[in-house]
Amino acid sequence: MSGFGDLQSLASSITAVTSPFRNYLNDLYERYRSLDDGAVADYIPELALAKPEWFGICVITAEGQVFEVGNCDQLFTIQSISKAFVFGLALEDYGRESVNSKVNVEPTGEAFNAIVLDEATNRPCNPMVNAGAIATADLIKGANSTERLKRLLAMFKRYTGREHDINVPVFLSEKATGYRNRAMAYLMLNFGMVSDRIDETLDLYFQQCSILVNAKDLAMMAATLANGGVNPVTQERAIDERYVQDVISVMLTCGMYDASGEWCYRVGMPAKSGVGGGITAVVPGQLGIGTFSPPLDAKGNSVRGIKVCEDLSRDFGLHLFNAAKPDRNLAEWLAGGDGLNDW
Ligand code: GLU
Repeated sequence: MSGFGDLQSLASSITAVTSPFRNYLNDLYERYRSLDDGAVADYIPELALAKPEWFGICVITAEGQVFEVGNCDQLFTIQSISKAFVFGLALEDYGRESVNSKVNVEPTGEAFNAIVLDEATNRPCNPMVNAGAIATADLIKGANSTERLKRLLAMFKRYTGREHDINVPVFLSEKATGYRNRAMAYLMLNFGMVSDRIDETLDLYFQQCSILVNAKDLAMMAATLANGGVNPVTQERAIDERYVQDVISVMLTCGMYDASGEWCYRVGMPAKSGVGGGITAVVPGQLGIGTFSPPLDAKGNSVRGIKVCEDLSRDFGLHLFNAAKPDRNLAEWLAGGDGLNDW
């Protein structure tokens, strides 16, 4: 009954239980759980229902070890985090050049919902701002809206290893109040940058933002990217290996709203955040981080999530461009000892 894969995942989960890294994450959680800066998004009533004290941290290695603390099973809407992954699917559907002819990859410094297109080409600035995400959603293939949505949900399942539902009240609220998104979609239609099935595409965009995930899912999605596009637990390929670098490059330069430059400087991990309070962060070749805490800073990023990623980056030398010996050696912390004697 138990194959090699089962034994391997059993060994991983035993290590995950006893690793000193678990104690490190518990400390991190305790350090920031009482931080009460920031405000829960309330542009639609459903998001305002989130409890400010919800807080979860999950780290999954590229080998599939899972470490979690706090509210890692609490579901919330993925919101803008979906944009990075839908960009990956559009690349698979159309290839790099074709997608790039519709959506640029330039950071903006503008708000995520700015109604701005590139003056020379009429392209939206990048796939992480709303205009770019709508243009990207437009590229998702499928004969009709149901098929396109099914393809998105199937993609997220490949990343996380489980089925996802849509929060229908959030979807309906986003749809009913998304005037700015509608305005930018029609502006792009005016310039011929999106197809004329624009209302269907807007629905798809609102639906993708309303997909329910938890912190563990976000960590698994990041771990899958860190692992070259293969889910480290199910071993299923979620995205063509060729496009992993496209997705995580744009996450690094544009993933954290108009705080992306500061994030890159301080944390140095490709990441994407959403107004639901989630952050997914990739340490290529090593691990994925998923954090969930609804209170957001003025730029729209989760306050506790940023703190957690800053500490992980600093303590284990995870900044992409770090060349100095870190205070702690991650491999030793992940694997070492029984977690009781050494630390
Ligand atoms: N559904 C949101 C919008 O389109 C996305 C918010 C976000 O996470 O940035 O306005």
